[in-house]
Amino acid sequence: TDSALIRNFCIIAHIDHGKSTLADRMLQLTGVVEQRQMRAQYLDRMDIERERGITIKSQAVRMPWAPSSEADTPHVLNMIDTPGHVDFTYEVSRSLAACEGCILLVDAAQGIEAQTLANLYLAMEHDLTIIPVLNKIDLPAAQPEKFAAELAHLIGCGTEEVLKVSAKTGEGVEELLDEVVRQVPAPVGTVDSPARAMIFDSVYDAYRGVVTYVKVVDGQLSRRERIRMMSTGATHELLEIGANSPEMTPADGLGVGEVGYLITGVKDVRQSKVGDTVTQQSKGAEEPLPGYKDPKPMVFSGLYPLDGSDYPELRDALDKLLLNDAALTYEPETSAALGFGFRVGFLGLLHLEVIRERLEREFGLDLIATAPNVVYRVRMEDGDEHVVTNPSEFPTGKIDTVHEPVVRATLIAPSEFIGAIMELCQGRRGSLQGMDYLSEERVELRYTLPLAEIVFDFFDALKSKTRGYASLDYEPTGEQSADLVKVDILLQGEKVDAFSAIVHKDKAYAYGTRMANKLRELIPRQQFEVPIQAAIGARIIARETIRAIRKDVLAKCYGGDISRKRKLLERQKEGKRRMKVVGRVEVPQEAFIAALSSD
Ligand code: GDP
Ligand code: MG
Repeated sequence: TDSALIRNFCIIAHIDHGKSTLADRMLQLTGVVEQRQMRAQYLDRMDIERERGITIKSQAVRMPWAPSSEADTPHVLNMIDTPGHVDFTYEVSRSLAACEGCILLVDAAQGIEAQTLANLYLAMEHDLTIIPVLNKIDLPAAQPEKFAAELAHLIGCGTEEVLKVSAKTGEGVEELLDEVVRQVPAPVGTVDSPARAMIFDSVYDAYRGVVTYVKVVDGQLSRRERIRMMSTGATHELLEIGANSPEMTPADGLGVGEVGYLITGVKDVRQSKVGDTVTQQSKGAEEPLPGYKDPKPMVFSGLYPLDGSDYPELRDALDKLLLNDAALTYEPETSAALGFGFRVGFLGLLHLEVIRERLEREFGLDLIATAPNVVYRVRMEDGDEHVVTNPSEFPTGKIDTVHEPVVRATLIAPSEFIGAIMELCQGRRGSLQGMDYLSEERVELRYTLPLAEIVFDFFDALKSKTRGYASLDYEPTGEQSADLVKVDILLQGEKVDAFSAIVHKDKAYAYGTRMANKLRELIPRQQFEVPIQAAIGARIIARETIRAIRKDVLAKCYGGDISRKRKLLERQKEGKRRMKVVGRVEVPQEAFIAALSSD
């Protein structure tokens, strides 16, 4: 295709504001999917995504469209679906980099949310043309005039430039497609130079192996030629090249500005990394496209099978997930309290939740997860440096400084909640960077916050303090040094590794007391007294005691019949199997699970 006729765009929207519905409607109006084949949310393929209404993997679809003003000039629209969540900022930024324009889609009954705002800022940084659109104007609760003013104010355009559509009824969607052609610039690149194609997504397919989505910036990629991944130097044969419309449709090649997929037969998405540049093996480009970054896990958690004999299954399941997830990392880990498991690294909390859910649902595993933690960089007085991904491995000895990751957070809420949000963020060691009114009653607050504070219950606290009205987004911005200590929890003098946590000095006492209290309630009384202590190094900061009992199970049925006694003994044995022993103390597994779940 002549690149002057190509329009590459994406849709930025908050969850539930109607991105999938709009995408479906566009597929239908452009004739890419026939009415009778239409099933709701054609583009959202994974079950979990569909159920939770989130889109994790981005894809691209090619649609022909002749705008009403140029009815005999078919254009090619490539709709690139961006992942919709905070954890995937880097993937979002690569999808945006493949586009020249974006549709900012906002629910006309809700207004813009923090996540959308954060992605809008990203789109602005990429100099994309932004088409503001209000969706769901068919709803009785829609307030198109009010939110058009909000959007116009935000983007700096006139209110009349804000389009109003209903993805559900189709109203205004053809006009929107026309506007995409009219407003979004055509891609520019050099035709007669070595190929440079940017990978903005790569997906593992059980039948085809890895399917890599690219935008060709310069030159041309052709079927059967050998290509090179510029970050690793690995070369592959291009077995198939083409575009989705909406199913994979092979072609002879892709030229400047075109968006499509490549298949090389590789089996692991790590060989086809988001952000990397693809070129020809011989006489290829010398300079990769800018912006490549290795995915870096930000949040870690220990994952243990509830039943220790499931360990091999857990390992196999993680291996399988790894094929489709370049950001996931894991290594084996043993815990005195939880047995054999893995320390798994994630991009963020949603990523963690999705992986955990897939392990449980798709692989039928029952898991215990330790409280999530961030990565710390610890410098010792003697100059040694440690990267700590597991609190129980926090170094002992003379520590010089500890660095923790920080994020830039954007919060949006009705203005009545400003006080509550400020209180929450201050309590989480946040510092206010700025505040703007989006309209009279809605305000945007910008904070820098330690990631560790967000990882710990922040969403829940925010939701409950703002009755669910606040929205939050964040992106990593670097690190800061902080006064952090490791708090250990001891049962009868024995450290329980799964409960060690790295917390700010001012919060160590609160953490210690809370854990000690929780455990006192969860651990059954034993034949002897069990002290529960919280300690920083050798210094005890909190203490609780589980008092002893001296009751023999059999004493209960003194004189009773023998079969009942046997049953009791058996049940006791059964119970024992699900017990973990810490020192001399028997702890039912449920107690660990309950203590690890954030109440
Ligand atoms: P996404 O999370 O942004 O992909 O949102 P969906 O497309 O899944 O839409 C979320 C919900 O809003 C679904 O129940 C849709 O049926 C509904 N929805 C989407 N667009 C419209 C619209 O224009 N009008 C109405 N009334 N509902 C809509
Ligand atoms: Mg969706």
